[in-house]
Amino acid sequence: MKDTTNENHLDFVGDNLAINFINTRRMVEGQLTDTLQSDSDVKAWLRRLEVPVTTGSLPFSDGVLLKRTRQLREIALAAVQDRKSGKKPSLAALNRFLADAPSHAVLTTDDTRNIRVTRVYGKETVEAFLAPVAEAVADLLADGDFNFVRHCEGNACVMWFYDRTKGHRRRWCTSTGCGNRAKVAAFRARASKI
Ligand SMILES: [Zn+2]
Repeated sequence: MKDTTNENHLDFVGDNLAINFINTRRMVEGQLTDTLQSDSDVKAWLRRLEVPVTTGSLPFSDGVLLKRTRQLREIALAAVQDRKSGKKPSLAALNRFLADAPSHAVLTTDDTRNIRVTRVYGKETVEAFLAPVAEAVADLLADGDFNFVRHCEGNACVMWFYDRTKGHRRRWCTSTGCGNRAKVAAFRARASKI
């Protein structure tokens, strides 16, 4: 039986919603794999990442959510790569996406009379449905510190992460995956020299 616990754990290693989104394309058993294969995969991923979305049926036809999600992910990946390599990222595609995802602020109070501001999105378009993710990508590009946005150093690994460790020396997507493989390789290299 395939163990999916570890795969779900990989949903969070980016330590940033936009990067976790990019990381839905990842190496699984040595194969570059898209973990999003259907509209329900997208919805399940959004739920796991606690992205606020509507629970009812979607007012657009089957497959549209998956298609637009993959397009948004491509846009996000290209922009993050450009930003990381010091190139000026093309923002037109992301801006178009955001323009189709209007939202407004709404104030709510709880029992203790705290007042909170939350955002409400129109649910009529697939872009509005994906707006929290698109906005996370926009926030990362605008406010992220790209010294700490890094690609995993693992051989053939495609994962990214936001390094929030104290010393900012994080190198791997996971210490048990790429980090451990590198440790084993370094140990073997040392052993072969003896
Ligand atoms: Zn890795």
